[in-house]
Amino acid sequence: MTDECVFCMIANGEIPATAVYEDETVFAFDDIAPQAPVHVLIVPRAHHSDISDDVPDDVLLALMRAVPKVAAAKGVAASGYRVIANTGEDAGQTVHHLHVHVIGGRPLGEGMVRPMEGE
Ligand code: AMP
Ligand code: ZN
Repeated sequence: MTDECVFCMIANGEIPATAVYEDETVFAFDDIAPQAPVHVLIVPRAHHSDISDDVPDDVLLALMRAVPKVAAAKGVAASGYRVIANTGEDAGQTVHHLHVHVIGGRPLGEGMVRPMEGE
């Protein structure tokens, strides 16, 4: 919806990304800076800044329903994975277009909900 939003541009095909899953409501692609062997971002095609942005029910449902599909596509359905939605400054959200990270492919540790650089 905004001209400068990188995830809007990806969802519109204006910036390349490695697609993992897509349907009419969401688009999923590999993170450009993966923090684990599997690191996928799922974004709604419509622009919402974050989870608190009055997101329609059908969009939230599509976002969450896409998670196990992405996990299956990436082969981590059985081994497990982490789902993260960084929201706002303290969470370190850098792209203000609602997205969930699906991270897996290695043990992620306990009590750490945001993988850090060099973990
Ligand atoms: P967050 O910190 O939750 O806002 O995460 C934003 C994520 O978007 C980071 O993990 C970035 O590596 C990722 N990212 C930024 N630009 C791109 C891009 N062009 N393609 C894929 N992932 C991106
Ligand atoms: Zn956007």
